[in-house]
This record gives sequence, C-alpha cells and structure tokens, in this order.
Amino acid sequence: MNNNEIVKKTIDEIPTKKYENHVCENCGRKIKYIENKFTGNMLPCKCQCEVEKEEKEKLKVLEEERQKLVMIAKKECFNHKSMWENTFENDNGLNSKMCIARDYVDKWEAMLELNGGLMLIGNVGTGKSYMACAIANALIEKGVKVKMTSFIEITNNIFNASDKVEYVKRLNEYDLLIIDDVGAERNSEYTLENVYWVIDERMNAKKPIIITTNNNLDRQECDKNIYRKRINERLRFVCVPVEMPEDNIREKLARKHNKDAVAALSEGGDLDGD
Ligand SMILES: [Zn+2]
Repeated sequence: MNNNEIVKKTIDEIPTKKYENHVCENCGRKIKYIENKFTGNMLPCKCQCEVEKEEKEKLKVLEEERQKLVMIAKKECFNHKSMWENTFENDNGLNSKMCIARDYVDKWEAMLELNGGLMLIGNVGTGKSYMACAIANALIEKGVKVKMTSFIEITNNIFNASDKVEYVKRLNEYDLLIIDDVGAERNSEYTLENVYWVIDERMNAKKPIIITTNNNLDRQECDKNIYRKRINERLRFVCVPVEMPEDNIREKLARKHNKDAVAALSEGGDLDGD
C-alpha cells in the first residue's frame, strides 16, 4: 500500500494512532495520523468532512450530467420548449384524472412489458395534452426515450424523408411514442395509410403508444371510413381509454385569472396611486 492509498482511507477504516492535537480547520474534528511503516513518518488521514465534501461534489457532477441528458432528451421529445414545464409538479390540480398519468409513470416497466398505452379522450381545454406532456417529462427524468408528435407532423416527415421506411423504423427507437390530437389529420388516403403504417410498425415492435384525441374512438362516426376503422381498431387494442373530466380546465383557469384581476383592481392599491 503506497502513501496515497493510506491517506485516501477514511478515518473509520484504518487503525489509527494519536499523533498531535491537530484539529481540522473546517470542522474541528481531531485529525488522526497513521504511521508509514517504511519511512516511520506520521501521515495525516483525510478528515471525514473532506471525504464527505468530495462525495457531494461527485454526486453534483453526476447530477449535472444527468440534467444535461434530460435536456437533450426533452429537446428531442417536444417541439415547443413550453412543454418542458408541463409536469406533475407544475400541475394546477384541476384534472382529476391526473392520478392515472402518475400511476402510468410509476408502473412504466410493467406498461412497457405489456405494450400498454393510453387513449386520452376529451374536448379542447380538458387537459389531455398536458397530461401526456407530464407523462413524457416524468419518464424522460427516469431515462426513458420518449417522442411526442402528431400524425400531421409524422405524415409531413414521411413525405419529406428520403428513406421513408428508415424514418418509420426509427420512430420505434423511442420507448414511448405520444401522438397528440389523433383524428385531426386529414382523411386522405395518403395520410391514413401512413398513420396505419406507423401504428402497425409500433405494434409489431411491441412498443407502447399514448394518444390524445377529441373523439372517443369507440364512438367515432368516422369508422365508416375503412382506413380510419382499421386505425381505430388497432389503437383500441393497445390503448386504455381514459376520458377527461367534462370541465374545461382552460376556461376555469381563465375565470380564476379574471376573478383575481378583479380582486386586485378592487383592492385599489395601484389604482389609487398609493
Ligand atoms: Zn474536517
């Protein structure tokens, strides 16, 4: 064992011997010394506070590296930076179904194993996209590869891709694919064929999909369209339906915001020029 190795050992691990009444300048602990058997020199052991400080710094570096990876993953997942903030922590608590999203994240490993997705159904402003974003953000924090997109975007990308097969296959590299606003895409044969292609590839790869949609695909009239019907059948097979509460969260928030504004005005502080 060389000198460095001896010094590195913490005070608790090695047999020590009192040398002088030196104390650590930082924490006031008595510094322990150990004798180097070869030279007879007394060597100070690293103080426990020093060991703890180094551990903390190591953890800080690891956490910074993790944060960087999370940021890269979020950039890749979302099209808008504002979606990074749509998290469970920032949730306003108005969506009573948010607990299902939390459960989904908690049970992610089982969901992945079962190829289990979600179908978040609700009108505009009911919070289904926020819920999907919150799942994405939480899973990214866990190191899961997630992509949130729409069929409109996917169709455009397929149209522009030089290697279309490669593009669709690459979507399966994501552990979770979230497709926002399903049903908003055009009913053209070209679009729907591509939509079906992506879902089919995903199902064959046994990887989960979460979709958000205004329509309950179970009740959807557009089952009359043969392509739509095939798409909806496949989605129903792999996505557990979750209906958003009827309340329009955006409207509720707007009402609250206005109420707050009215209250602020009637307090009169700023208006009176006090
Ligand atoms: Zn110390």
